[in-house]
Amino acid sequence: MSDKTYGFETLSVHAGAAPDPATGARAQPIYQTTAYVFDDADHAAALFNLQTVGFIYSRLTNPTNAALEARLATLEGGRGCTVASSGHAAQVLALFSLMQPGAEIVASSRLYGGSLQQMRNTYPKFGWKAEIVDADTPDNFKRAVTANTKAFFIESLANPGGVVSDIEAIARIAEDAGVPLLVDNTLATPYLCKPIDYGATLIVHSTTKFLSGTGTSMGGAVVDSGKFDWSQGTNGGTRFPSLAGPEPAYHGLNFYETFGDMAYTFHSHAVGLRDLGPSQAPFNAWLTMLGIETLGLRMERHCANAARVAAHLEKHPAVAWVNYAGLPSNKYHQLAKKYLPKGAGSVFTFGVKGGYDVGVKVVDGVELFSHLANIGDAKSLIIHPASTTHRQLSDEQRVAAGAGPDVLRLSIGIETVEDIIADLDQALEKATA
Ligand SMILES: *Cc1c(COP(=O)(O)O)cnc(C)c1O
Repeated sequence: MSDKTYGFETLSVHAGAAPDPATGARAQPIYQTTAYVFDDADHAAALFNLQTVGFIYSRLTNPTNAALEARLATLEGGRGCTVASSGHAAQVLALFSLMQPGAEIVASSRLYGGSLQQMRNTYPKFGWKAEIVDADTPDNFKRAVTANTKAFFIESLANPGGVVSDIEAIARIAEDAGVPLLVDNTLATPYLCKPIDYGATLIVHSTTKFLSGTGTSMGGAVVDSGKFDWSQGTNGGTRFPSLAGPEPAYHGLNFYETFGDMAYTFHSHAVGLRDLGPSQAPFNAWLTMLGIETLGLRMERHCANAARVAAHLEKHPAVAWVNYAGLPSNKYHQLAKKYLPKGAGSVFTFGVKGGYDVGVKVVDGVELFSHLANIGDAKSLIIHPASTTHRQLSDEQRVAAGAGPDVLRLSIGIETVEDIIADLDQALEKATA
């Protein structure tokens, strides 16, 4: 099918998945195989030289994963995609092609707690440095740029705070600085937000969340817009030697010269997945493909339910504040209207009067909601970040990340909205009795 003429919902069902040429199977087959037979020695050599596209070994590529990659690239409006075993694996993979020891990124302080953890404590072990800035002031990115900066990293809609980033403003600063803007689009999904339209270079996903949609499958993805000039340089050399210089990890191949707008995606497979090894299981890719078929329908309901719940909580006597960008009272409402016109997602936080103790009682009191560390399930989910996902951070870092002691994070599911509201009401009543 030619992708250009179809709408988002059509592409969600069809992109990347033609009927199986061997059997006519209409559903995407699961290629549960480790390796692929070569036609002959010349074919094998051509595959290893990246002179022909095909399958060698499932750590690098797999036909089921390739179908998911094609679908995600299409939905994000990108050129290529690489799937990985988890969202965090995708983040490492996304940066791997750009970074080297001594390289820096500039990242938003509003990122998912796990991402901040990864950047603050694990990236330094690779010799990578993350400068964390308040993204509410886009100029903070400009101020943090050095000669070693290789990327900016933000979330379109941040987890857990309901914070919306000014993607276009930050993309402009990235362009001036000659670095790619990476946008974690996990909470928005391409149904609600298309960061590439606003100048983002690379999109990362935890497909674990709304894309797979039912809390069954870990996965991640990196989508490349194909629009970045990797050969642009500093001091006469390229800023991205792995992509636009002779890559010693692939017998001196210059990926950008050879593959142009597919350089980044080829590098992520041929070197990133090959050497780091975080490949996605084909079964997970298959479940995620299936999930994406209903993405638009689910997101519509997720957003409608979340808007109702947020409006209800805002008036609730036991609730101190609600941070949902879909509420007109919210600080990020104007940005949400621009970047998330179809809805502000279904993950948001609210504060309970009575702080930490009441927060813990609410998560113990819910009956329909599940108390767990995930988001983006069809089921409604709740967590108290200060005692769980964000407990590794200092008090100051927790507040900066929107995860103070009174904060509860909700991921509103697609159940009957009255049931969702009734469950929160009874839990709040018990917790404050
Ligand atoms: C969950 C999440 C991640 C990490 O993804 P995993 O699949 O859990 O590794 C990264 N970013 C955001 C915004 C997330 O919500």
